[in-house]
Amino acid sequence: MRRCPTCNRNYTDEALLFCLNDGATLVDTSAKQALSIREARSQFGVSWGRLIIGVATGKLKIRRIGRDWRVKRADLEAYMRKR
Ligand SMILES: [Zn+2]
Repeated sequence: MRRCPTCNRNYTDEALLFCLNDGATLVDTSAKQALSIREARSQFGVSWGRLIIGVATGKLKIRRIGRDWRVKRADLEAYMRKR
């Protein structure tokens, strides 16, 4: 599954790289690059406090997609490596 970050339209065609509406580069959602907060906590064992500190200090970016908060897996991994 791929999703357009601009209009949030979903595409099931994995070969498609750009949104047919606006030409934005599609994001691969099946690879789970963007984790929900719940997934971040269960997969990385990160506490709420640590997430909030990361956001407050600008070390961790959490984006809002629709009604969900998402954090990029790569961002979280980098943040968790710094202590
Ligand atoms: Zn689009």
